[in-house]
Amino acid sequence: MGTLTGLNSRTITGHLVTLLEYPRWLIDRDVDFTDCHLSGDYEAGDSTCVDCDFGRACRWLAANRDVPTLESPLEELIEALTTAANYVRRAHGAAAGHDRRCDCDTCAWLREANNFLRARRHRA
Ligand SMILES: [Zn+2]
Repeated sequence: MGTLTGLNSRTITGHLVTLLEYPRWLIDRDVDFTDCHLSGDYEAGDSTCVDCDFGRACRWLAANRDVPTLESPLEELIEALTTAANYVRRAHGAAAGHDRRCDCDTCAWLREANNFLRARRHRA
């Protein structure tokens, strides 16, 4: 890998915290709260939220708005990464021109996230 430097990359949790930075930025950029009657304040019981196009992304943002710390439970971070990877894959997969060799930031992040999740699964 070699792309991660500093204290954060030395532990699994640190690596996850670093990996979660990109989707937080990306999803925050993707989601448009202009027409949101809750101003992006996701509410599970709200019928508008259930049908909203941004539902999954918005829910993720609401749950991950705060930057995780090295004390965050590992399972929570893995769950957040899994959801983010699924979202990014779907949102990004719709755009043309991204194949296995693409090295744009999003594809590079997806590959890294998938590698990490795959490695975790084998260990579990
Ligand atoms: Zn790409």
